[in-house]
Amino acid sequence: MPARLAFYYGPMDCGKSTLALQIDHNHSRQGRSGLLLVRYDRSGGARITTRVGLSREAVEVEDDTDIRQLVRARWARGEPLDYMVVDEAGFLTSEHVEQLAELVDDWHVDVYCFGLATDFRSRLLPGAARLFELADDLIRVHVEVLCWCGRFGQLNARIVDGVVVREGATVVVADTANGGAAGEPAVRYQVLCRPHYRSGQLGPGEMVAPGQLRLQLDPEHARDQSRGARATK
Ligand SMILES: [Zn+2]
Repeated sequence: MPARLAFYYGPMDCGKSTLALQIDHNHSRQGRSGLLLVRYDRSGGARITTRVGLSREAVEVEDDTDIRQLVRARWARGEPLDYMVVDEAGFLTSEHVEQLAELVDDWHVDVYCFGLATDFRSRLLPGAARLFELADDLIRVHVEVLCWCGRFGQLNARIVDGVVVREGATVVVADTANGGAAGEPAVRYQVLCRPHYRSGQLGPGEMVAPGQLRLQLDPEHARDQSRGARATK
């Protein structure tokens, strides 16, 4: 059977990293040799970590990493390679994805990618865009994540001081539960259905106070919010 390039995509918290480690486990149990790669892991280190507490060592993919070189170096050491698992693949560059496609087609390595499809602006991430163009298999993962209203959670909202922000730079913020230092805006992410992403309603647990609602509708304040988001790393 020819090797395949697969992309499993979904919003945050949908269990993608857990599925990534499960696929790795299933293959290695069959005696296949794998390589785990990660782009911006939430742990900040070169590991694939999951919210259910699983973790495995992984090689971090940097902007200028040539993934083919990683594989060649491994083969030069006499280590076999049958498959790769790539977590946070939405943040890969187009070039990275093209390198993966080459590994699949010319070198017969199975590649399983996992990641977000869209950023907080609801725009495709670069790695996801190229994977949608090139992958053999596109699998939407949405088993575990729902919007507060019960609809399928589809989009990752960036929330700055309680307000959904839909523009600004794509910045990776690892699990910022409750804002940064004093004086900085509180930034967090929440998975919402499309209607609630669009309306900015965050659910009964996050009912906006009347004052905040007025601020949200004030264009001057909205601009301040997006400036704050850009400044927040
Ligand atoms: Zn909803």
